[in-house]
Amino acid sequence: MSKDFDIVVAGGGVAGAVTAALLARQGRRVALVDRKRPRAPEADAEFDPRVVAISPGARNVLSAAGAWQHVPEERVGPYARMAVQADGGHVEFAASQHGLEQLGWIVEIPTLQAAAWQSLASQTGVVDIMAPAGVESFEPRTNRLGVELDNGDHIRTRLLIAADGARSRLREQAGIEVDQWHYNQHALVTHVTTERPNSGIAWQRFTEHGPLALLPLADGRSSIVWSQPTDRAQALREMDEADFLEELNAHQDSPFGQATACIHRYTLPLVRRQARQLVAGRLALLGDAARTVHPLAGQGLNLGLMDAAALAEVLEAWRPEDDPADALARYERWRLSAGTLIAGGIHAINEITTGNPLGRRAAALGFGAASALWPLRQLFVERACGLDSDSPRLARTTP
Ligand SMILES: Cc1cc2nc3c(=O)[nH]c(=O)nc-3n(C[C@H](O)[C@H](O)[C@H](O)COP(=O)(O)OP(=O)(O)OC[C@H]3O[C@@H](n4cnc5c(N)ncnc54)[C@H](O)[C@@H]3O)c2cc1C
Repeated sequence: MSKDFDIVVAGGGVAGAVTAALLARQGRRVALVDRKRPRAPEADAEFDPRVVAISPGARNVLSAAGAWQHVPEERVGPYARMAVQADGGHVEFAASQHGLEQLGWIVEIPTLQAAAWQSLASQTGVVDIMAPAGVESFEPRTNRLGVELDNGDHIRTRLLIAADGARSRLREQAGIEVDQWHYNQHALVTHVTTERPNSGIAWQRFTEHGPLALLPLADGRSSIVWSQPTDRAQALREMDEADFLEELNAHQDSPFGQATACIHRYTLPLVRRQARQLVAGRLALLGDAARTVHPLAGQGLNLGLMDAAALAEVLEAWRPEDDPADALARYERWRLSAGTLIAGGIHAINEITTGNPLGRRAAALGFGAASALWPLRQLFVERACGLDSDSPRLARTTP
């Protein structure tokens, strides 16, 4: 089989599937290639431990792609308040003080991914879904790239988008170098039941071992993300439930009271990665293929969705027969600087606060200043919510 496309997206995680949907909505001939087809969790299934906080700007992008409309409301945990503590200092944010309905929503990644794929299915004829199939390799041809799939198919495309995740094969094939920082930390994730239900507060504390978050699930439980040194995280994963809950409760004094039960515990390694370039010829990187960040600010996928919207914006006027170099150069400048700024800020907060009482004290003082300085709070909320002037137009447009 040989087929011609305007754009091929390699990787149908949330970032890649949303990119394919946005570009198809511009009338492009788009193919989406992934090794697996996602399956939406059953309506009564336990919540998946892999959840993400979605910002208002990112939700606008998901809506523009037609994906958010397929996310079942009963699996979404909205939060209108955010509370952050360190060493006695604390800062709180309320959506209503910033003219917003919510500060964010906690959603399972498999639910989001299935919703994004459902939006593609309703665009039949425009997005060609090739799954299960992996991109094996690609090579430049005149005004195009030839793409070889691992099922033996060959396709051709004007643009190739690498949304194939943190260990991107396409990034490596393009010879793009990556800067990496191993935090020697793992994130311990689980869902906990607490004495009182979480009524919609994203609560976070910088503990001496690393940042601990309790994020609201739709059923009143909280999803835990506790980043800490690898050996400690693994020990907490292995211990009895009662011992784990005791240790957790010794480090949290959230408004929801003590944690009384938890589901299975998982640990995930934390690595910051930054690709040195986001574009190589007709290839552009996006989502985790472009960078990964520490989860303490819940920004990884939000950045990936901003990439998707930014790419759609710079390609608006591009015609497939034209050279995409100028549009892609704009994308690269825009998303490299935005991503590096946010990732750098998150990195610094983790380094300052983990295992360093003075750093946590400084953070506490910073929270006091942030509480008092209204313009600073507003700027912070706009940026964290993906609604600031540097965010793509689709993110700033409420559907
Ligand atoms: C503990 C933790 C907590 C987090 N919390 C948050 C949060 O609160 N908010 C937030 O925004 N982010 C958060 N993140 C980050 C977020 O999970 C990721 O940024 C996001 O899931 C990455 O999505 P993606 O679509 O870029 O990549 P992926 O989800 O990795 O998707 C890549 C896709 O590419 C496919 N693929 C791979 N190779 C090929 C190939 N050769 N050909 C075809 N297909 C291929 C794979 O099958 C996969 O479907 C968190 C991360 C961690 C570890």
